[in-house]
Amino acid sequence: MYTEDDLLPISALQHLAFCERQWGLIHLEGAWEENVLTAEGRLLHDRAHEPESEAQGDLRIARGLRLRSLRLGLIGMADVVEFHPAPEGGDGVRLDGVNGLWKPFIVEYKRGRPKIGHEDEVQLCAQALCLEEMLGVSIPSAAFFYGQPRRRSDVALDDVLRAETEALASRLHELAEAGKTPAPEYSGKCRRCSLIEICLPKATGGQRSARRYLQKSVADVLSLPNSDAEAPL
Ligand code: SF4
Repeated sequence: MYTEDDLLPISALQHLAFCERQWGLIHLEGAWEENVLTAEGRLLHDRAHEPESEAQGDLRIARGLRLRSLRLGLIGMADVVEFHPAPEGGDGVRLDGVNGLWKPFIVEYKRGRPKIGHEDEVQLCAQALCLEEMLGVSIPSAAFFYGQPRRRSDVALDDVLRAETEALASRLHELAEAGKTPAPEYSGKCRRCSLIEICLPKATGGQRSARRYLQKSVADVLSLPNSDAEAPL
């Protein structure tokens, strides 16, 4: 079990699932190349993350629900959690001020179409694992709501996806503890990576830190000592 101080963001899992170096550039080096896709995705998210709750017919809806798992060492937020009526004596939770049992169902907002990889599914599964731990219920499926075209797509949270998500959470803590940006490995995914101009997967030639590579390049051009050299007294 992790402590509160050890918790890492669920959102890091999707970067890690896509590429370990991308995770390092964003979460260790603070790089973020905001392009049109990420900006629009963020706006869609910001709207869904305004904390509120509401009732829609038989549904109870919570927006911007905070999530946490001490077992996996993760913290984050769910865009939308729907609570559907569950049979008495079944698998459900009690809600303040409302009668009966309720079964949670997570809906995550995403811009555009489903991605080629399944990084988003990992993130969704991590949210469900957190909520299961917090509420003591099972959450067998969840859904994405895509911005374009506007449609909802259900995702089965099966054993394979759960095992992969748990392994990634463990790897996330391992890499965070090591504190070193993984070296680049040029592959097909680099072409759809928003950090390619920062990562320079071909140019950095395996150097772990893109920042150090750029500093060294500038220092070489200017014939100045690079950042690794000691500053003159
Ligand atoms: S450009 Fe390629 S190696 Fe670099 S962070 Fe993106 S996916 Fe990873």
